[in-house]
Amino acid sequence: MNAPLSFAFMLRPTVYLETFGCQMNELDSELVVGSLRAMGYSFTPDASAAGVVLYNTCSVREHAEQKVWSRLGELAIRKLEQPGLVVGVLGCMAEREGAALIKRMPVVDIMVGPAELDKLPSLLDNAVRTRASIVADEADAAVARLTSPMLASEERKLRSADQVALQGATSRRTTTLAAAADQLEMLDLSRAVSPDDHSGSAYVRITRGCNKFCTYCVVPHTRGAEVHRPPEHIIDECKRLADAGVLEVTLLGQTVNHYRFEHGSAVTIGGVIQPQKGRVYKKTADHADAYAGERVTTFADLLHQIHERVPAIKRLRFVTSYPRSFGNDVLSVIKASPRICRYLHVPAQSGSDRMLTAMNRGYTVEEYFEFLDRARAFLHEPEISRPLTVAGDIIVGFPGETEEDHQATAALLRRARYKNCFIFKYSSRPGTVADDKLPDDIPDEVKRRRNSELLALQNEISAEISAEYAGTTVDAFVQGVSRRDEKKARRTGAAAPGATKATPSGAITLTIGGRAMGVSGAEDEAPSTCTVDASHIHNPVLTNDPANHHADEHAETVQLSARTDGDLIVFFDAPAPAATALIGRIVRVRIDRTTNLALHGQTV
Ligand code: SAM
Ligand code: SF4
Repeated sequence: MNAPLSFAFMLRPTVYLETFGCQMNELDSELVVGSLRAMGYSFTPDASAAGVVLYNTCSVREHAEQKVWSRLGELAIRKLEQPGLVVGVLGCMAEREGAALIKRMPVVDIMVGPAELDKLPSLLDNAVRTRASIVADEADAAVARLTSPMLASEERKLRSADQVALQGATSRRTTTLAAAADQLEMLDLSRAVSPDDHSGSAYVRITRGCNKFCTYCVVPHTRGAEVHRPPEHIIDECKRLADAGVLEVTLLGQTVNHYRFEHGSAVTIGGVIQPQKGRVYKKTADHADAYAGERVTTFADLLHQIHERVPAIKRLRFVTSYPRSFGNDVLSVIKASPRICRYLHVPAQSGSDRMLTAMNRGYTVEEYFEFLDRARAFLHEPEISRPLTVAGDIIVGFPGETEEDHQATAALLRRARYKNCFIFKYSSRPGTVADDKLPDDIPDEVKRRRNSELLALQNEISAEISAEYAGTTVDAFVQGVSRRDEKKARRTGAAAPGATKATPSGAITLTIGGRAMGVSGAEDEAPSTCTVDASHIHNPVLTNDPANHHADEHAETVQLSARTDGDLIVFFDAPAPAATALIGRIVRVRIDRTTNLALHGQTV
């Protein structure tokens, strides 16, 4: 990862990085920031001040891609004025579009798929140098134009530096062992952890990619086959994060509960144990991992080991769970482990068996509830202040969805009683089986109506669940200043008292569902309308360094946003001078008011 000597003293432009989409993308962005900082790049939260603009993109729904297309269109205009500007598209959109993206948008200099992010630092160095020479050529051409006005100057300015690394176009498929080494694992292992980068909370990836091939989903096409990271790497990462003051870790995987590492077939290259391809997850009568054994680390084993070996992590949670083959072994470990959160995000996608089959989800509604009922029987213990909370995802308007299917989904919501549910309008994604084989036949106004009916129903359920907390006292992990106070501060031009603020060295701008997110939690934001679970919105380079805070002397209190162990949002006021110190800590809050979105209370 070291810079080649000849570039060591190159003056590197400042980078602006904007992230779209899921928690995986947030973590990828954090790793990108770490690797570029190690090369001497610094970051700015102001796109207009940057010499390099990078978008880490999401392809799950068309809407997120449209945002990026329009940002690129704006940059094409800016690049005419600033020809040295380097533009990069990272992540799923780069992988999905391939080189066609540069053809459509020659403003793009770099494209890197999610499985090739380790190559970004060298590609960026190359692109910066190539653009510098294009700019120099342009100066020469300007002189030439005096004699030959026909030269296409605008075209030249937009010419791409053309640095591309995509999964399909590399040597990953080569058969030599050394070349097969998983460089992305090296990127994960090189993660820089510091108290400034994590306000007490962090993601840790345990698997990458997905093998499930739900017919609507682009993820297996953009992130590739499912691989499982070696358990020792995961545990070491958790330890390093804990040493840097992290109290809350969220383990990430597309079907996180299907994690398994078979030590007997582990491959080591250059002293580094390699991640392992996932295999089919078999059903067993006792709902445990069919391959469990001495030489296997199952998901249950992994949870147990992190819990026991890293006690400084006070909250351990995981997303996203797959409802099929969720073992009792995992539920038993959660029950026995006080620091594992009793929270499951376990998407159903539909309440109609017909739709579930068309989606290739591999379970029926009855099987979904077999799991949910079993999980609640194991884990829902409000009498000892350990309730189980559950969140879901639903897609409305999948091809062929009838009114009857839609009503079946409403019935599923009533029975599942999610604390919140993300309800998405089906978006046909090129490259998926559904896009290829099933006409997107539900009109948009029907999708919209079904979406709002389910949202209204879910809001009622969420309000009822929140109301159960009125009068109780909860432990809440403080994430930051509430969106309301942050907005207020922005309006008045002052930083919110005790607010977090971007580090001087730069920031990752998080764009969730195409909307910039600067703070944790969102009082005015219905979680069910977000692209990702707002519980996991965390800007890793926001800092709670008191040096970055400017107290507003007119305000006496500041509203902080926190989360319960079951991932419910909690708002409470804290005296302005003390507010900063609470961020990244767990506090006791007595709940005196509730809404469908949040619990409101006071510290005790
Ligand atoms: N792996 C997780 C699972 O299977 O539960 C979900 C990951 S996916 C990136 C997040 C959510 O996006 C899905 O649960 C699904 O509801 C939604 N989603 C995925 N593809 C979609 C599409 N084509 N249109 C609308 N929503 C989609
Ligand atoms: Fe997509 Fe299905 Fe894999 Fe989830 S399990 S990432 S929805 S293919």
